[in-house]
Amino acid sequence: MGEIQSQRAKQNKAMLAKKQKNKRIKRVRFIITALIIFTAGAYMFRNSNESILGENRIEGSNIMLVNKTYMLEDSFVPKDLVRVDIDFLPDATEEERYMTQKAAGALKELVNGAAKDGVILTGLSGYRSYETQRTLYNYNIEVNGQTYADKYVAPPGGSEHQLGEAMDLATELGWITEGCPEAQWIAANAHKYGFIVRYESGKEDITGYNYEPWHVRYVGKQTAQRIYEESLTLEEYAEK
Ligand SMILES: [Zn+2]
Repeated sequence: MGEIQSQRAKQNKAMLAKKQKNKRIKRVRFIITALIIFTAGAYMFRNSNESILGENRIEGSNIMLVNKTYMLEDSFVPKDLVRVDIDFLPDATEEERYMTQKAAGALKELVNGAAKDGVILTGLSGYRSYETQRTLYNYNIEVNGQTYADKYVAPPGGSEHQLGEAMDLATELGWITEGCPEAQWIAANAHKYGFIVRYESGKEDITGYNYEPWHVRYVGKQTAQRIYEESLTLEEYAEK
C-alpha cells in the first residue's frame, strides 16, 4: 500500500510539473505572438508613412504633390498643425483654421502685406482632413450625382488641403471672384510670401481642377518665385 501511494504521489508530482511547464510554454508563446504583432504593426505603420512621402514628394525637395493621381492616404495627418492667426469668415469650421506651422506663419505675412496695400484678405478654408473630404464627396454624390461630384469635388485624399499647406482665401465679405482686386493682388504678390496660385486658368488639363484664384499653396519663397516667373503648375515643376 505504502509503495503504491508513494508511486501515485510521484505521478502527481510529475503531472503537476508537466502542467506548469505547459503553462510556461503558453506564456512564452503569448509573449512571442504579442511581440510579432507589435513589430509587424510598427513596421506597417512606418512603411505606410514612408510610401506616402515617397510617392508624393517632388524629387530633390520637401514639396508634396497632391492631385487626383497622387493622392494621400487616410492616415496622413500633418504633424505640426497650428491655428492660423488671421481673420476668418464666420463660415470657416474650426478644422479649416489650421495649417502647418511654416505655412501659417507665411500666410499671416501675406495677409499683412496685402493690408499694407489696402487689400483685405480673410481665411475661408485651410486644413481639411481625409474624413472631411470623404463626407464632402459623399454628400455631393448624394445630392448632385456621381458625375457632378467627380467634376467639382476632390475625391478623398485628392485635395492638397489635407497637407495643411493650402488656404482658400476670401475677401472681407465672401468669395473671391475672377478679376476682383483681391484676386489681382494674390496673383501678383503671393509668390513673395512663398505661395503659388495652385489652379491657374488654362491649366485645367494639367492640374485636374478648374481655375481657383482664391486657392494658394505654400511651397517656400524660392520655388514660388520660380513657378511664378516661369508660369508653371506644380505638376510641370515636378517634372522638371
Ligand atoms: Zn482650395
